[in-house]
Amino acid sequence: MSWLFLLLACGGKPATSPPQPAPHAQACPDGRSVGQPDVVLLTIDTLRADRLGYAGHSEAKTPHLDGLAGRGQAYLQATTPLPRTTPALASLLTGLQPHHHGAREVGDRITVDRTLATTLSERGWRTLGVSAMKVAGPDQGLDTGFQSVEVHHDARAQDLANHALTRIDEVPPTCPVMLWIHFADPHFPYLPPTGFSQPEAPRCRRLAERAAAGKLRRVKLFSDQGGMATKALSECQDLYDAEIAYTDTAVGTLLQGLAARGRKDPIVVFTADHGENMGEWGLFFEHGPNVHDASLRVPLVIAGPSIPAARSEAVARLEDVVPTLESLLQIPSNERLPSDGEDLSGRWLRSEAGPQLALAESGSALHARLTDYLVTGRKRRMHCINGPRFSLCRTAKGKESLYDRTTDPQLRIDIRGTHPAEAARLAKAWLRWPVERTRQRVARSSRFTLVGIPQLEGGYTTRLYDHQADPGLRVDITLTHPEEAQRLGSALNTYGASLDGEQGEVKERSKATEEAMRSLGYLE
Ligand SMILES: [Zn+2]
Repeated sequence: MSWLFLLLACGGKPATSPPQPAPHAQACPDGRSVGQPDVVLLTIDTLRADRLGYAGHSEAKTPHLDGLAGRGQAYLQATTPLPRTTPALASLLTGLQPHHHGAREVGDRITVDRTLATTLSERGWRTLGVSAMKVAGPDQGLDTGFQSVEVHHDARAQDLANHALTRIDEVPPTCPVMLWIHFADPHFPYLPPTGFSQPEAPRCRRLAERAAAGKLRRVKLFSDQGGMATKALSECQDLYDAEIAYTDTAVGTLLQGLAARGRKDPIVVFTADHGENMGEWGLFFEHGPNVHDASLRVPLVIAGPSIPAARSEAVARLEDVVPTLESLLQIPSNERLPSDGEDLSGRWLRSEAGPQLALAESGSALHARLTDYLVTGRKRRMHCINGPRFSLCRTAKGKESLYDRTTDPQLRIDIRGTHPAEAARLAKAWLRWPVERTRQRVARSSRFTLVGIPQLEGGYTTRLYDHQADPGLRVDITLTHPEEAQRLGSALNTYGASLDGEQGEVKERSKATEEAMRSLGYLE
């Protein structure tokens, strides 16, 4: 998957303009910044919180990430505000929830004009980014405030780490650096690089290679058609772990490379944009259309000088990172970004309670045949609304067809002519649930999770879970915990009203962004 990186390494034109090399002899222009710590935002795409050694996964080979967690604040119940790449990373960089920064789906462009990089650039940091994903870069405005963010789409983690170090070499040693590095290896298809120790896993490898080559429609795999995902699940989890283990080696390269350059004590924030469903709620090797823990929970570690080591089960969110870093870096309050998050350092510095509730929404179900979801697909492509038995689907050209999933699960036989009343009922429901705006919602405290799921006839049904006692979120405890259901329900309603106020048309995307989304399996 690294052909583009090879092209770049051999002198091809990069996906974005590279920074002009900074003259090494030049002192850092802003005297105030001398002596400030380096800041590293280390993000790994599609990394489940529970697949790391420090989080208790016995098969994990993640010594560098475990070491980082062992010397910093490790939040074991951290969450993303939207389990898709662009919205989540935009929240990390802006401190805002997606409906406030404007990117509510993968590939969307943010609508705000400041990020943490803006603040740090203005105060003398050299702000650099390297990303292995086109949907996490300048095309979505994620370079806002940075002096440069380069995208090397599909670059392997070791190549990306070495590239980041090359960029660091161009910064005068007296200048503090803010580096954002976004690794992409654990994203499906799970195919660790040749030469790296990994299981044979022939069944999963075959599926992954066929999907990567465009010979297998990913939605068939993601929705487990014919049981193909279930049969390969164990092998795929092993290959996924190997991708994570490989990425961990690149984390080691990066941290050791920084130390070797005299940048020994950076503040490091390590996290992910979202997790990954491994069969939970009928979804395999994919993330985004639901808000349950498999894709909602992310690792979050904040480590650095004078940050005490601790493990925490408290609420922590990606949008808390900006206010936390602004506090740790002593940014004056009038220069701080408006944020939906809170300063987590108050917990370890001043015994403050910190955030008590995480609020999040899902992305839409981008594939047209994930029929467990109310609305699936994309507006300008094939999309469907799914009742309990029938699906009404519309092609990009507007042709409508009706299918009976009980007798025709592959959606092949159009019965619209013989069932006009069913078609009309579903078409009417579609007016309530615009494509790509039909999303699940969640309110999650330190112990309870309340999920809101859209209903065909309007409104949401809610389910309450005790995620401490029931991490798989299998048992709805609404009836035995009515007060919790009401308390979280009230928060979910307020949050939902705020979301609904922002719901508009889906943004047009550039051809390049759509091509990147297709290569990641979000479009077919
Ligand atoms: Zn992602």
